[in-house]
Amino acid sequence: MNFRIRRRRIFEGKAKVLFEGPEPGTLVQYFKDDASANNDQKRGVIRGKGVLNNRISEYLMTRLGEIGVPTHFMKRLNMREQLVRQVEIIPVKVVVRNVVAGSLSKRMGIPEGTVLPRSIVEFYFNKDELGNPMVSDEHITAFGWASPQEIDEIMALALRVNDYLSGLFLGIGLRLVDFKLQFGRLWDNDELRIILADEISPDNCRLWDVKTNEKMDKDRFRCDLGRVEEAYQEVARRLGIMPEAASLKPESEK
Ligand code: UDP
Repeated sequence: MNFRIRRRRIFEGKAKVLFEGPEPGTLVQYFKDDASANNDQKRGVIRGKGVLNNRISEYLMTRLGEIGVPTHFMKRLNMREQLVRQVEIIPVKVVVRNVVAGSLSKRMGIPEGTVLPRSIVEFYFNKDELGNPMVSDEHITAFGWASPQEIDEIMALALRVNDYLSGLFLGIGLRLVDFKLQFGRLWDNDELRIILADEISPDNCRLWDVKTNEKMDKDRFRCDLGRVEEAYQEVARRLGIMPEAASLKPESEK
């Protein structure tokens, strides 16, 4: 059944659509197979990606919730949709890095794969039109995107997520090289809380096989390495959440 026809579309991004949820304060997050990279210069479809990312993000957000990280995830509704809490999104992409890759390698001229002496947290203004420029906490507070206390909370949560996920992925033979998080605000009993939002999946994590260093994430699409679908499936399989192959059919064939 196509729920999208009946629901009010709140926002459409590159990889996801947000619809009005069944209760006030909730949204339905729909995962598409569409992929984009290099600031939208490269676009394509990764068959079955939406189904896999829905499951992977459900799994990781649930585990994080269990260790006390507040997340927007409520429950998975079906193959491509999950119910989430509506939050006021903070317009900052939070990137955590353990190993040099991607833009850090280019910017600093450091070879990919160099292990960082300690984890680094970076902030980027979430504005595709501007190419998501890197910003510091000075910009974030001066422009009123978040308060100093909220930045402290975001840093602490990002590092906790990094510690937990690094261990979780290592347990299944994957190195968590870097990843991007997004946070939002939610009123909870007269208190404004910082909540982890968006998704955590191979779309926004770099995951390298511990033994072979093979890339198991969106870099396979970004860099035309081939076997993109297989990499996403392998991550889901190692997490023990591989849905039946039949359910990976593209949206148009459902
Ligand atoms: N990332 C993301 N969305 C963005 C930018 C980065 O999900 O808009 C993720 C990316 O998948 C990687 C990490 O954040 O895991 C660091 O990305 P980087 O800054 O190296 O940028 P890229 O090389 O992807 O342009």
